[in-house]
Amino acid sequence: MTTFHALYGHQPDGEWAAPGRVNLIGEHTDYNLGFVLPIALAQTVRVQARRRTDGRLRVYSAQGDGSVTELTAEELAAGDVTGWARYPAAVVRALAAAGHRVGGADLLFDSDVPTGAGLSSSAALECAVAIAYNDLHDLGLGEQELALLCQLAENRYVGVPCGMMDQMASMCCRAGAALYLDTQDLAVRQVPFDLAGAGLRLLVIDTRVKHDLGDGAYAQLRAGCERAAGLLGLPALREVPLTGLDEALTRLPAELRPLVRHVVTENDRVQQAVTLLDAGDPAALGPILTAGHASLRDDFRVSCAETDLAVAAAVAAGALGARMTGGGFGGSVIALVAADTADAVAGSVTEAFRAAGHAEPVIHHAEPADGARKLS
Ligand code: ADP
Ligand code: MG
Repeated sequence: MTTFHALYGHQPDGEWAAPGRVNLIGEHTDYNLGFVLPIALAQTVRVQARRRTDGRLRVYSAQGDGSVTELTAEELAAGDVTGWARYPAAVVRALAAAGHRVGGADLLFDSDVPTGAGLSSSAALECAVAIAYNDLHDLGLGEQELALLCQLAENRYVGVPCGMMDQMASMCCRAGAALYLDTQDLAVRQVPFDLAGAGLRLLVIDTRVKHDLGDGAYAQLRAGCERAAGLLGLPALREVPLTGLDEALTRLPAELRPLVRHVVTENDRVQQAVTLLDAGDPAALGPILTAGHASLRDDFRVSCAETDLAVAAAVAAGALGARMTGGGFGGSVIALVAADTADAVAGSVTEAFRAAGHAEPVIHHAEPADGARKLS
């Protein structure tokens, strides 16, 4: 790999890292102002960075096309950027649009967060830029402010209508804990999640498929949820308590009922999961994960053959529970397993994929890791 000096002719001022994430439970709840429970992964996007005073942004990624993209301050403000460089450009633009005095920077990225696997490499990339800029240009912003600016950058300047979970997870997670986040008031709590201490492992099964129903489907689901909240006279579906679900469903057209059922029961599953983790019983999360998957598959309808197969094969092989994680239509599945069964479960999933004629899944295991940080 090339070096910072070889690219830019000087040494970096420092190096920063921001992780990918998996969400334990709480899917499609963030834009309904509900609850989520992600952990950060050990896999990170790392950025070496040097401050510039002329407002230019130069970016290079070891996972990119081998060239440096250079943008003047005017080009950044105009947002005339294509390819992966629009992610860092969007963050700089969002910082500037929020009134922060950002100058330029030279950036070199390297990453082991798989892209497009539902592990949020895009948020990791954004958060790495934000934390580096915060330090390089003395912006003095807190991690939540940075996370929200990254979300805004992805929404407004990349054009992906994501909720805030991914960026909040990448910025705010801590090793050994899951991040319990109320997306309405942004209250966060670190909930101890000691996998190793409980003799557990969390497998992350990258199905390596991404069915391109993509952003259109996401926007439609989101609009359906918002329409349902409007029909119920509520600002968001988070206001529907589990005890009021049946009554709420009677007031909605048939096509919206499954969406609402998913969101309301999913918010409840997050609460259940937090209660179990607080009680020091992470193994009991298993059935909640599997129930969450059934809800995504049958009510929200964002799973696909590969994610359903990974869940079914993992559970059949003895996983305590499993679910797809991320927006859906492919991506990754998590499976909670007893440590001594991890290899057998992984082997069974791989075998089931082979038998079904799917590409071989890539299986990692996750330990709750730290959020974005300065490395050197
Ligand atoms: P996910 O966030 O689930 O990984 P996305 O489609 O939201 O999937 O984001 C993936 C995109 O983010 C890539 O197509 C690329 O444009 C950008 N990206 C992520 N990591 C890197 C990297 N290390 N170098 C360059 N671009 C990256
Ligand atoms: Mg993404």
